[in-house]
Amino acid sequence: MTKSAPVKKATAKKAAVKKASSAVKKPAPVKKAVVAPKKATAAVKGAPAAQPVAKPPKDESRTALVRRARRINRELAEVYPYAHPELDFDNPFQLVIATVLSAQTTDLRVNQTTPALFAKYPTPEDLAAANPEEVEEILRPTGFFRAKTKSVMGLSKALVEQFGGEVPGRLEDLVKLPGVGRKTAFVVLGNAFGRPGITVDTHFQRLVRRWQWTDQTDPDKIEAAVGALFPKSDWTDLSHHVIWHGRRICHARKPACGACPIAPLCPAYGEGETDPEKAKKLLKYEKGGFPGQRLKPPQSYIDAGGKPAPPLGA
Ligand code: SF4
Repeated sequence: MTKSAPVKKATAKKAAVKKASSAVKKPAPVKKAVVAPKKATAAVKGAPAAQPVAKPPKDESRTALVRRARRINRELAEVYPYAHPELDFDNPFQLVIATVLSAQTTDLRVNQTTPALFAKYPTPEDLAAANPEEVEEILRPTGFFRAKTKSVMGLSKALVEQFGGEVPGRLEDLVKLPGVGRKTAFVVLGNAFGRPGITVDTHFQRLVRRWQWTDQTDPDKIEAAVGALFPKSDWTDLSHHVIWHGRRICHARKPACGACPIAPLCPAYGEGETDPEKAKKLLKYEKGGFPGQRLKPPQSYIDAGGKPAPPLGA
């Protein structure tokens, strides 16, 4: 759970004005500076000291951009040392199915639905040969359940017919599967095969634009632009850090800037709630003291005080 430290209100740096002589009629004007919080959460060790919010210069050099981006990622790694994929899975088949099901719904809802699905259909062969109506009934809570039933059954059929019932571990094979785009493929590669991948979901797109890492809007171009700022070995963890931050603190409508540990590094500080107490109330999942999205989270999450999500209907 995140504790909030008192945050100093933006303070103006007063110009030193001395009444040297009666010739000085007025003191020099006092300029107000927007200052990001020194340390929004006590949980973040070594948070940077208060400083004017970083507004990257229009002509920020490539080297400066790379340095800034990597620093944000390092800070986020301290904020979310337990970051992990938020879909429950035991093998690549479960992960690819869960990722397809996560379209238009939360990972939580998928995690609450897949235990029944995988208990009844543990392999691609089982799901490919299922009665669609029975699959639809199980998938109903995820929304768009008829289309999703078609997707996961078609995907299972393709796995059986083209890949011997195994999920392939290559991007070029994965994207040939029905319903699997680059985003899904990278989730599977990064988390089930340990191959680096950047997951450009809605949170990732929003946050990297707020941080001015890129002004691209097309997901493939964002992936290329951000990927070029980091070594490949960082890609999967970077994706988790950014997505976790988007889900917990840097929300689409009301980012919790006043409780954001990377505020001093953020060019968009002030886009959301800057009052620390009000911002704290916007925090989600473990940062707000609530359960996470996984019913079976990794031990590191539990050790850090995270709570497992409740099963469906609990
Ligand atoms: S919450 Fe505010 S300060 Fe933090 S990353 Fe998002 S926009 Fe920047």
